[in-house]
Amino acid sequence: MTFQSLQLSSYLCKQLEAIGVKSPTEIQKNCIPKILDGIDCIGCAKTGSGKTLAFALPILQKLWEEPYGIFALILTPTRELAYQIADQFAVIGKSKNLRHCVVTGGMEMIVQARELANKPHIVVSTPGRLADHLESCDTFSLKRIKFLVLDEADRLLGGRFDQQISTIFNALPKNRQTLLFSATMTDTLEKVKKITNKNTFVFESTAEVKTVDELEQFYVLCPYNVKDGYLVEIVRHFREKDEKGLIMIFTDTCKNCQLLHMTLNEVGFETVALHAMISQRQRLAGLAKFKSHVSKILIATDVASRGLDIPAVALVINHVIPNNATDYVHRVGRTARAGRQGRAVSIVTQHDVKVVQSIEQKINYKLKEYDVSGLHVAKILTQVHVTKREAQIKLDETDFDERRLINKRKKLITDGKDPDKVEEEIKRQRKEKRRKRFERKIKNNEGIVTITNETEHVDDELKND
Ligand code: ADP
Ligand code: MG
Repeated sequence: MTFQSLQLSSYLCKQLEAIGVKSPTEIQKNCIPKILDGIDCIGCAKTGSGKTLAFALPILQKLWEEPYGIFALILTPTRELAYQIADQFAVIGKSKNLRHCVVTGGMEMIVQARELANKPHIVVSTPGRLADHLESCDTFSLKRIKFLVLDEADRLLGGRFDQQISTIFNALPKNRQTLLFSATMTDTLEKVKKITNKNTFVFESTAEVKTVDELEQFYVLCPYNVKDGYLVEIVRHFREKDEKGLIMIFTDTCKNCQLLHMTLNEVGFETVALHAMISQRQRLAGLAKFKSHVSKILIATDVASRGLDIPAVALVINHVIPNNATDYVHRVGRTARAGRQGRAVSIVTQHDVKVVQSIEQKINYKLKEYDVSGLHVAKILTQVHVTKREAQIKLDETDFDERRLINKRKKLITDGKDPDKVEEEIKRQRKEKRRKRFERKIKNNEGIVTITNETEHVDDELKND
């Protein structure tokens, strides 16, 4: 089957050929015709199976039949993923003057407001920041969008984003096409179905194993207090054998992430860190360094577990195993993408055995034992531990420590206050301040024009050829 036979325009087929995408994947074959027919769609297919193009291609095709902005809104749970999706739209649409904008936290609101007021065709956004924009200004409207996409839909609808999602939904037209995608939707399918039309097309791959066949999955059993030594040895051994492949290491907290980053750098492996406690500019710069192989190891929290598509990733290591199968599937899905081979190694301690068994059962795959030389670990262990302690001291001197936050919460509790409420109030005040500053800027800025919902804005020069 070819992309032509899916009724995609010759322009799109040419663009796909130019980027080396030859024939459609299963999810693309199934979903693209339905989306072109105007049907709502829920697409559930394994990591790395081309879900992005499954929605991007039909959206672009429809856009060029009747181009205007804002035509489609794509929501994703993480900022880096928003940039990645926008890049994919940009690559396909580059010779057609496609206007797109990325709206995420951690970047200047005023710049985003200006871009939104410019009526981009495609908006890719994380829910929090878009809700902020909707609550604080009327320089743009989402009332005429044709498409709403929730990428990583189970995450977006999993509860954490409820408030923001509801603000956004209130700003959307009823008459639209809704497209939901994820690799893990089975548990949330009923919830997910609620936001689509009655005659929604559901595509679910029937494979029994939830991870891809090209992925080899291992575990290393070791005592808790020497796991850092095992981590370094796994990295060292992999490097010795394979010079080229990129490595992603996942751990549980921002602080552990930062500590491992500092420790590995000290023992001779250049790494970058990606977690919520560094600035967005640093996050994007670190990721760019990793993608361009300047730094071949990325250490991350689950902020990097969803959606990121970096084909050269050959090994995923779980320094700390996630406590559920869904996060596990997404983390290890950062490798072995689009038919490539990949490996995942999870470091398992005496405390994790039950979790691993439950993950194995849910993904229907038995992890194999990974061979690590205990002798090598013993040789490097002292150095690793001393280096990590030094890193810990350095970090304690900065105001990075999450423990500080924990102590602050403990003090609030002993003072008889509810720390959640206090934090919420601080957040609210901060948001209010930010909004006021933003509104002031908007008032003083002539570059932003206010549009009304009815504005007809068709870019004739962009019509389909
Ligand atoms: P998913 O969202 O399903 O995890 P992505 O959309 O990120 O996967 O796609 C994974 C990779 O596969 C990307 O690098 C993408 O360019 C590539 N890809 C997408 N469709 C095809 C195709 N039909 N043939 C070959 N590669 C494809
Ligand atoms: Mg994806």
